[in-house]
Amino acid sequence: MALIIDGKAIANNVKAEVKEGSEALVARFGEEARPNMTLVLVGSDPVSKRLVELKTKDCEAAGITPTVISLSETTSEEKLLRLIDRLNNDADVRSILCQLPVPEHISTKKLLAAIAPEKDVDGFSARIDSDDYDIAACTPAAVMRMLKEAGVDVEGKHCVVVGRSNIVGKPMAIQLLLNNATVTVCHSKTVGLAEHTRRADVLIVAAGRARLITADMVKEGAVVIDVGMNYIEGHPVGDVDYDSVEPKASMITPVPGGVGPMTRAYLLVNALKLAERAARGNQ
Ligand code: NDP
Repeated sequence: MALIIDGKAIANNVKAEVKEGSEALVARFGEEARPNMTLVLVGSDPVSKRLVELKTKDCEAAGITPTVISLSETTSEEKLLRLIDRLNNDADVRSILCQLPVPEHISTKKLLAAIAPEKDVDGFSARIDSDDYDIAACTPAAVMRMLKEAGVDVEGKHCVVVGRSNIVGKPMAIQLLLNNATVTVCHSKTVGLAEHTRRADVLIVAAGRARLITADMVKEGAVVIDVGMNYIEGHPVGDVDYDSVEPKASMITPVPGGVGPMTRAYLLVNALKLAERAARGNQ
């Protein structure tokens, strides 16, 4: 039986830490320094709407002031980019989040590039050198914290990441490298995926393919982190076939209740860091 890494419980601790940090910032610099987050939602996708609601609640619990801007599905790319520009230049706005996915007529790449790095609460524009890693992409930062809380030191371990997206797979591989792991990154063109995953001491899966990883693809005693979030008949399902993999793994994250709540908690960590930077800059 694997130890289940409880993302919800760790996320509650992270939220409490951020709340403490927010209040300390306000105590030192005044109410105007309170962290805030502007959440932009384009369209009416129910999952995105729900995520924005959850993120808003998380902010409130952590002493961060949320503002939600909801735009219609037909909002043009130009109008959205103008809004981002306005938010970038508004000194009262400390951090910006644009809920993904956006409708197809809007370029995600252009949109993410438009958000000023000093307000990018998702950490998508984080630089890849270790010196600038205090604002990290949320999901990889969340995974690193979960590993730490579970007592897993990746130094010298073989970590296999399935997925190479700019927002999860690539920054995940970099965070592991920064922590002295030996890293293999797999993707949709990888030949013999199972041969790679079977060699993993720590397997991190972010492919967006429901139950892609089955027991035969996992080494006995491996640590398995499931980033995937897929919906089957309205139910959340990870990229790992939990029921078959769990007995083989030494530790595993569930879906839901694993990486998801931790990613959201790391948004709060970044919001606090951005507000702290802004407050120091205004001194
Ligand atoms: P993307 O679709 O951007 O990237 C998926 C990656 O997986 C790509 O690199 C793709 O390869 C690779 N891939 C797809 N199919 C296979 C396969 N059969 N074998 C090996 N590799 C494969 O997704 P994201 O990175 O944005 O997200 C990944 C998953 O994580 C999704 O389910 C998403 O919902 C979830 N997610 C969950 C979060 C959380 O908080 N829990 C946060 C962010 C994401 P290629 O590059 O060749 O196309």
